[in-house]
Amino acid sequence: MIKIQLADRVKNLPPYLFATIDKMKQEALSKGVDLIDLSIGDPDIPTPAHIVAAMKKAVEKPVHHRYPSYEGMLSYKEAVADWYKQRFNVSLDPKTEVLSLIGSKEGIGHIPLAFVNPGDVVLVPSPGYPVYPVGTLFAGGESCIMPLKEENGFLPDFKAIPEDVLKRAKLMFLNYPNNPTAAVASEGFFKEAIALAEKYNIIICHDAAYSEMYYDNQKPTSFLDVEGAKDVGIEFHSLSKTYNMTGWRIGFAVGNKDVIAGLGKIKTNLDSGVFQAIQEASIVALQTEDSILSRIRKTYQDRRDALYEGLKGLGIHINKPKATFYLWAKVPTGFNSTTFVAHLLEKTGVLGTPGVGFGAPGEGYIRFALTQPVERIKEAVERIKNAL
Ligand SMILES: *Cc1c(COP(=O)(O)O)cnc(C)c1O
Repeated sequence: MIKIQLADRVKNLPPYLFATIDKMKQEALSKGVDLIDLSIGDPDIPTPAHIVAAMKKAVEKPVHHRYPSYEGMLSYKEAVADWYKQRFNVSLDPKTEVLSLIGSKEGIGHIPLAFVNPGDVVLVPSPGYPVYPVGTLFAGGESCIMPLKEENGFLPDFKAIPEDVLKRAKLMFLNYPNNPTAAVASEGFFKEAIALAEKYNIIICHDAAYSEMYYDNQKPTSFLDVEGAKDVGIEFHSLSKTYNMTGWRIGFAVGNKDVIAGLGKIKTNLDSGVFQAIQEASIVALQTEDSILSRIRKTYQDRRDALYEGLKGLGIHINKPKATFYLWAKVPTGFNSTTFVAHLLEKTGVLGTPGVGFGAPGEGYIRFALTQPVERIKEAVERIKNAL
């Protein structure tokens, strides 16, 4: 028997803060609790039928059964460029400014390998998607946290970042509309970020996974639609949330061609691209009629309204989301995020996610995901009312 020892980069992974919650959830389920799970950021609505139909056709084609091209089929990348033009009026060269990804998580996790040397700094928003600091750690980089505070509209305060940190920074992750805070960013904020990136030579990686999950017809802007963005960075995108395709594993990165090429180099050496049948079905997805997407947005908006109005009525401090399918609420006094989640689960069977799980600055908040039907959300509010 040999001694199996984990590498330091795995040993050094931050503790999995959702482990206690997972355990409590399993215990509740085994006791037969009627759980209302609002903890998972995964759409409960199936992929639209026309996309599934396109996949059925594509999967029959033997040409797709072979290795795909590494950087993605040109037809898929052209569909991405067309979508960007139509949605954001941003022009992209499909050959050099678009890269297919096995879900955007894959690209986000890999990009530090292309640009970060051991000891380099990566600027990471917190609370935030855990893949930003983990990808940084795997590349030997050092995460510098940019706290997202409510008084700043959950935007990072660039002026608070020390000069020496900025000088060592190679990469900055941003994510708007934001998971978990549901904040959106203005063009002015992106301009500020671009100016900073130019001054200190920092690559900006903007994660736009939620750009199509918006409310009240207020469409979020693309980072790439801001002047100078393509000189400093890229945007990550995903079909997961827009088309309810989380299980399909497809996304893309677009923008600065040198950054795209660098990420492409890592991928060429690690993976062999996205199953072409999925790429072909995704072309159809990207051409989805707006009426279908409007219906999906309406479903989430009804849920948002039910949960937002419901919780607000109970005196819970909460900002009304303009985008994403999350609500980011302050936990009542006397609790921290973990004890409140535990309390809610025990008293009501409603499960949220403790804010601290997204990073220390998330302490004091709970995230609810709108991944249950309106009736269940109303039931959740009713139960919370009775428990408070
Ligand atoms: C869901 C999500 C993604 C999308 O991940 P995929 O790998 O494309 O499914 C990316 N970023 C954030 C912040 C997310 O919440």
